[in-house]
Amino acid sequence: MLIVMEANATAEQVAAVVRRIESVGFRGHPMPGATRTAIGITGNQGPVEAGVFEGLSGIAELVPISKPYKLVSLEVKLEKSVIHVGDAEIGGKELAVIAGPCAVESREQTFAIAEAVARGGARFFRGGAFKPRTSPYAFQGLGEEGLKILADVRDRFGLRIVTEAVDQESLELVERYGDVIQIGARNMQNFSLLKFAGQARKPVLLKRGMSATLEELLMAAEYILSEGNYNVILCERGVRTFAQHTRNTLDLSIVPAIQRLSHLPIIVDPSHGTGKRHKVLPMARASVAVGADGLIVEVHNHPERALSDGPQSLTLELYAQMMQEVAAIRGLVGPSKILHVA
Ligand code: PEP
Ligand code: MN
Repeated sequence: MLIVMEANATAEQVAAVVRRIESVGFRGHPMPGATRTAIGITGNQGPVEAGVFEGLSGIAELVPISKPYKLVSLEVKLEKSVIHVGDAEIGGKELAVIAGPCAVESREQTFAIAEAVARGGARFFRGGAFKPRTSPYAFQGLGEEGLKILADVRDRFGLRIVTEAVDQESLELVERYGDVIQIGARNMQNFSLLKFAGQARKPVLLKRGMSATLEELLMAAEYILSEGNYNVILCERGVRTFAQHTRNTLDLSIVPAIQRLSHLPIIVDPSHGTGKRHKVLPMARASVAVGADGLIVEVHNHPERALSDGPQSLTLELYAQMMQEVAAIRGLVGPSKILHVA
């Protein structure tokens, strides 16, 4: 159930409705929009009695929600969510680009890549300090030491830091040192981690699980919003199919599909989505053409020596080329939109 407030409802009227929702044991989530505030209700099983809201002013209507997800849906908020990260943003006018190595390997490697990333124009830097690796013998990341290097990158280059949390302990550290908490494909349905991310005070980049449906991705995001963190960015990173020419099959059609259902920004990862350097640039162009709010790409100064994901990492030159080409495409397609078409 959703409560739509009148266009001129005051903050006190909104607060009174939220208090009433809490008084019956549920949680109220005010979602301010350009024309009106809607208040989503969570914690209820089935419809909430209309009588609960008797005597309250400023309410325009009570609307049942038809989808299994609530807070991520366009039914609750009709305008795109713009996620502000310092002076940068994701989901707004500018194409958001997050670039950097798969993993933070050393201070020298990270700074060399960050210098090129900043010069190319990206506002965000990626790099894993905690790596969820398929093999327990593969490089697992530098941990807190890696996060300190990333924090120094922010200070030096003004780049906003996006880095992955793999469990509650690393999430607390990532929240402390980073700017955006990445939840990886392997953890998209780690519901306890999603709840902790929902209690964090930093935005969350949620990657699609490698066999997750669109609905499962939105339900995973719903876990985070339902805990009170509304700053979630979705990310398509490819799914497993029978195709053998590619690491994953990058499902770009999910971008307009999400934009018909959700106000959350959606970005694309053509690096994990393809697994091969030569495919990253073409798929980055396609991602921007299809209307994505941004890109997350792996870049390395020595891909042949990378401790993880070297074969899919762009060289510094290819990264610079990508930035120019995607800017031109974005200039043609404009900022992404909510799709109201049938
Ligand atoms: C990553 O971004 O380095 C990563 C591990 O991605 P994914 O979770 O999409 O596999
Ligand atoms: Mn990687």
